[in-house]
Amino acid sequence: MAIITLGTMAFDAIETPFGKIDKIVGGSATYVAYAASHLTNPVQQISIVGNDFPEEEMNELKSRGVDLSGVEVVPDQKSFFWSGKYHLDMNSRDTLVTDLNVLANFNPKVPEQYQDAKYLMLGNLMPSLQLSVIEQLRTRPELVVLDTMNFWMETAMADLKKVLQKVDVLLINDSEARQLSGEYSIVKSAKSILKMGPRFLIIKKGEHGALLFHQNEVFFAPALPLEEVFDPTGAGDAFAGGFIGHIDHTKNISFENMKTAIIVGSAMASFCVEAFGPQRLKEISRKDIELRLEEFVQLVNFDISLV
Ligand code: AMP
Repeated sequence: MAIITLGTMAFDAIETPFGKIDKIVGGSATYVAYAASHLTNPVQQISIVGNDFPEEEMNELKSRGVDLSGVEVVPDQKSFFWSGKYHLDMNSRDTLVTDLNVLANFNPKVPEQYQDAKYLMLGNLMPSLQLSVIEQLRTRPELVVLDTMNFWMETAMADLKKVLQKVDVLLINDSEARQLSGEYSIVKSAKSILKMGPRFLIIKKGEHGALLFHQNEVFFAPALPLEEVFDPTGAGDAFAGGFIGHIDHTKNISFENMKTAIIVGSAMASFCVEAFGPQRLKEISRKDIELRLEEFVQLVNFDISLV
């Protein structure tokens, strides 16, 4: 049993109020894999890179139980490149550059040994490619989770709506939920998005936590109040990796267990933002994760008998 993860493996250039870095490894699937591999393995990755993607990074991922046989290496092209600049509040950012490079001709292929995966994490990528992976699987996974972003809503909304009909869980942020539904109220947008296909909807609100919607139920997970958010890049993907990693670790797709999964996701996101790129996700230990989860429990733990 395993998770399949699909997404970008990339180079990023990032500017935050704390500093600037011109080239660092990133990509939605890279962050998902680093986060998920703390909780479960194998993580069966599907992605594409150029001749410039570092061998050491591939080896680092492999050493954590990430299967890279679904990662295509194109010898004469460059990896996907993204550049973003964060605003002072760190909750919003401007995309400065999106160079598709190898992604322009990506045609993901699901390796034979991935066919039995129980869960599918469709990381942020062209919706048509997300759909292609769903269609290549002979048996539908027990849970299909989809992450996307405003870029695809602006450039590929029709394809995105098609893939939405085939997934169980959608992960987006609050402004993307408004964009997708055309509703300003988060609750109204959740109701409208739950009619588009997914049975579960997770709306991330950056430093204000995340909401999980299912039928008429809603659950709130806070974000850890951190003194310093150094670089929010990849926080959404680390959240997704923590979420699907916990689901695979526990093999339980109930609403109750998804509540825990979004806390695990929030914990992985809280580590991710502490340094540039996926650095913190590489450094942390099992003990660090347990301590952070305990901090989350304490954050919302209060005594109702005193009321
Ligand atoms: P997040 O901060 O969670 O939205 O993820 C940021 C990561 O997503 C960066 O490392 C980028 O390389 C990658 N990324 C940015 N734009 C896209 C896009 N349009 N499609 C796929 N991945 C992207």
